[in-house]
Amino acid sequence: MSIVVYCENIEGNLKKATLEALTYAHKMGSELGLPTYAVTTGEPLTDVLKQYGVSKYVEVSPNVPADTSLLAGSISFGFEKLNGQYLILPYNSTGKSIAGQLAVKCDAGIVSSVNALPESLEPLRVSQSLFAGKASAVVQVNTAKVVLALQSNAIQPEEKPVDEISGELVILDSLSQVELVKQEMLSEGIPLPEAELVVSGGRGFKGPENWHILEDLAKELGAATACSRPVSDADWRPHHEHVGQTGIAISPNLYIAIGISGAIQHLGGVNNSKTIVVINNDPEAPFFKAADYGVIGDLFEVVPKLTAAVQAFKSKA
Ligand SMILES: Cc1cc2nc3c(=O)[nH]c(=O)nc-3n(C[C@H](O)[C@H](O)[C@H](O)COP(=O)(O)OP(=O)(O)OC[C@H]3O[C@@H](n4cnc5c(N)ncnc54)[C@H](O)[C@@H]3O)c2cc1C
Repeated sequence: MSIVVYCENIEGNLKKATLEALTYAHKMGSELGLPTYAVTTGEPLTDVLKQYGVSKYVEVSPNVPADTSLLAGSISFGFEKLNGQYLILPYNSTGKSIAGQLAVKCDAGIVSSVNALPESLEPLRVSQSLFAGKASAVVQVNTAKVVLALQSNAIQPEEKPVDEISGELVILDSLSQVELVKQEMLSEGIPLPEAELVVSGGRGFKGPENWHILEDLAKELGAATACSRPVSDADWRPHHEHVGQTGIAISPNLYIAIGISGAIQHLGGVNNSKTIVVINNDPEAPFFKAADYGVIGDLFEVVPKLTAAVQAFKSKA
């Protein structure tokens, strides 16, 4: 038996969420005495896989991420081939679209939005986030095979190098139903769902001409940028930056919300953040109730000062 991680090669990289899944696998594997194997799509990045404890992989082809049925079928094929007992994958946009299908195809129990290492291994009990991060539950999985879909930042990536890796390519053309016609990356930099630090802005910024204030802070912190829905609806920012119930759900270690009121639909996408800092000039803004730290003040004064303070701190370090 083995622990198998789904590793998606995106433009020649394994994303941080995948490194977290690999770390989760080798930590579970060292307790259970099971090796960490991988099913990969795209060129297997064997040097990285070796650094993160993978000694065997199956590369499945063709790689058509849009065909989730093909993808889930290919991964479950690799999982069987590697004699997997546990299948671990990030609960990112790809993970969300295939996790359920994988559980069916692998005849496995499933836990999604897993937010920590298992509380116990036999029986397997894991904690998951519920209700957009407003609650968490510990669930026990009673099936022989298990799919665990990890919330981002559930664990910090840790290397565990192995000396040797072996692998094979499996071509599963017969499963393909959808053909990739064109693929385009919509954003550069740190992808929002994986970001550890996020600086986010709302209507308090008054207009897109002031967004540089937020970007300056994000740049100093090495953070991804996000926004509330009205901001993207007004085309101040692109739609892929909108977080919330109808946007992207994120779980960074730090979420700085500037000039955002904290409507329930916004909180629905950011409640899983480990630390929330709110900057707002209205002491009654609902966001303060969800905040770990709050600054009551005018963002046009507070944010440039914060950026300067980060700059000064970095120059001393
Ligand atoms: C079905 C549905 C789904 C929705 N989904 C989402 C979603 O996914 N994501 C989302 O964000 N919204 C969503 N919304 C909209 C949501 O209800 C709120 O309207 C929206 O989040 C408010 O955005 P905001 O906080 O940027 O703007 P506002 O509510 O206008 O708040 C602006 C804030 O900025 C503060 N401010 C103003 N000037 C300054 C200043 N100079 N300095 C500091 N602070 C200042 C104000 O005090 C205020 O709190 C949804 C709504 C519905 C009905």
